[in-house]
Amino acid sequence: MSDYPAPVRQLIDALKKLPGVGPRSAERLAIFIMQSESRLAEDLAAAIHLARNGIKNCSRCGSYTATNPCEICVSPRRDKGLICVVERPADILRIEKTGQFGGVYHALMGKIAPLDGVGPEQLRIEELVKRVQAEHPREVIIALGGDAQSEATTHHLIEILKPLGVSVTRIASGIPVGSGLEYADELTLGRAIAGRRPL
Ligand SMILES: [Zn+2]
Repeated sequence: MSDYPAPVRQLIDALKKLPGVGPRSAERLAIFIMQSESRLAEDLAAAIHLARNGIKNCSRCGSYTATNPCEICVSPRRDKGLICVVERPADILRIEKTGQFGGVYHALMGKIAPLDGVGPEQLRIEELVKRVQAEHPREVIIALGGDAQSEATTHHLIEILKPLGVSVTRIASGIPVGSGLEYADELTLGRAIAGRRPL
């Protein structure tokens, strides 16, 4: 791509890093942005900056939020007796879209992956234990994917949570084996939550 001036090449290279954007679409987007009214480029840059810097992780559940604690954690309409454990904050957004869950969440910020040097202590498991001890929920739902690392994380959570006397369930099968929640459509995910099983 030596025919583009350096700033445009930089834009194309940055766009290429986005999921689902290949070299050709990155080029097309860059050209579109260059040819558009300057307003679009500025709005886009400002929106990206705001989303990235104006959003934090809720100190309680880990969800993306502009306020801390987040709206879900402080809402009187949410059932605090039901904590749904997920891998990432993005999973919370996915479950919220199903409209099938009225409890609160806890994002672990990853899953146990010994080969990548991620052990239980790198995850928000200690925080989960403290929440269970302090808030006494009646049920913890484990909503992790079907891959080996999620399985290892689920088993570790069961070992840690069961002695605390809380009922532990996991979402029903239906999440594709070997993948995370991001590969399940809303309907499947909603059904998986509704059809959860005790452990
Ligand atoms: Zn929260």
